[in-house]
Amino acid sequence: MGFRPMAALCIDCGLDTAPNDDRRKRGAGKSEYYMVRDSVWEKAGMSERKHRATFLCIGCLEARLGRMLTARDFTRAPINRVDRWNSPRLNARLSNRAKPEGDAAMRRAGR
Ligand SMILES: [Zn+2]
Repeated sequence: MGFRPMAALCIDCGLDTAPNDDRRKRGAGKSEYYMVRDSVWEKAGMSERKHRATFLCIGCLEARLGRMLTARDFTRAPINRVDRWNSPRLNARLSNRAKPEGDAAMRRAGR
């Protein structure tokens, strides 16, 4: 009874990644509803079969992967759009066009 039908709780920390059914109440900048490529999801230990309707927030997914997400990790699904409902860190990842090893490349470039 207490469960909202659309609740999408992160299985690692319990954060509601999709408070979009009551956006006006909670305000902008909270949503972490996104889709990553299957290969990324699998690397995080999330198999498609066993974890069909499970969710991870950005922080816990990155912790499992041991690296930051970049735009390349996300699918072309319409939900992967930078908007004001997304958390700042999700928007930052969606607009990060660097390769996964981009940090090292930037260091080599002297930045
Ligand atoms: Zn989490």
